[in-house]
Amino acid sequence: MLSSIQIQSYAKINWALDVLFKREDGYHELRSIYQTVSLHDQLLITETSGQIEIVCDDPRVPCDETNLAFKAAAALRDATHTSNGARIEIQKRIPVAAGLGGGSSNAAATLLALIKLWKLQIDERELFRIAAALGSDVPFFLIGGTALGVGRGEEVYSIEQVRCENLLLVNPGFAVSTRDAYEKLSRLTRPEPASIIPFSQLAAKGIRELPLAARNDLEAPVLAAYPEIAEVKRRLLSLGARHALMSGSGATVFGVFDNSQAAEQSETELREAGYWAERVRAVDRYEYHATLFQ
Ligand code: ATP
Repeated sequence: MLSSIQIQSYAKINWALDVLFKREDGYHELRSIYQTVSLHDQLLITETSGQIEIVCDDPRVPCDETNLAFKAAAALRDATHTSNGARIEIQKRIPVAAGLGGGSSNAAATLLALIKLWKLQIDERELFRIAAALGSDVPFFLIGGTALGVGRGEEVYSIEQVRCENLLLVNPGFAVSTRDAYEKLSRLTRPEPASIIPFSQLAAKGIRELPLAARNDLEAPVLAAYPEIAEVKRRLLSLGARHALMSGSGATVFGVFDNSQAAEQSETELREAGYWAERVRAVDRYEYHATLFQ
């Protein structure tokens, strides 16, 4: 009998994040290209007699019902009218509130793992609906790899997979709240057609060029408010990154390097300067699904 299950919960970056306009429901209409990367948390989920419990080795992560993995388990239980329980142990490796989607990834990983552990039959559309209700980035982590996100990011489409071996993630050690980042964005009312055109031009550059053409509408306003993040970007470029960009709502910045030596040397220098720095590579959707339950 299957009574416990391990799952890897990968981080993401954004190759593109276009914020088109603020919608009537208060959300922003986005066009995003998501990418899973090799950095991951590890979840160990064990069946219990009924209660949902969270254990986490990172004190910044709440272990109560506000934890996204808790919410995912509770939502799945409600949707399937079951009374199963689970103890979810999270080994945190993804920096928290860092623009790397750690909480959303934990939520999606919990859904995928509990479907197996609790032996549930669930319609795919229903699963995506549950994920979207948990958070805009959660549905993406059900598919992983390189994917286009539209709407508030919750409507996801797998696209041609990007290859990128030498990425360096750097975090300055403080959090930027997602809400704050959007509030800092001043160009919220620009007309939709003008924004869609550059996005399709980006797609037309071809998937190979995407890492070097990556861009993020939230970067300029967040960098203006947090010079420490601008400093991380400047350092990455001066250490030889071909391109450097803030991920999501920050504060993590990723650098795109030509080779592993340059990325490794930069990782060492940035760690010596006191930053959290981690070399990663893009994980495509095939690898994502082949390694989730390793
Ligand atoms: P997003 O861009 O989706 O806001 P993020 O990568 O910037 O994500 P997360 O690491 O997901 O940020 O954390 C956002 C907040 O969610 C944190 O303040 C944290 O307290 C809370 N949180 C709830 N559950 C989790 C979880 N399982 N892992 C990490 N953070 C969690």
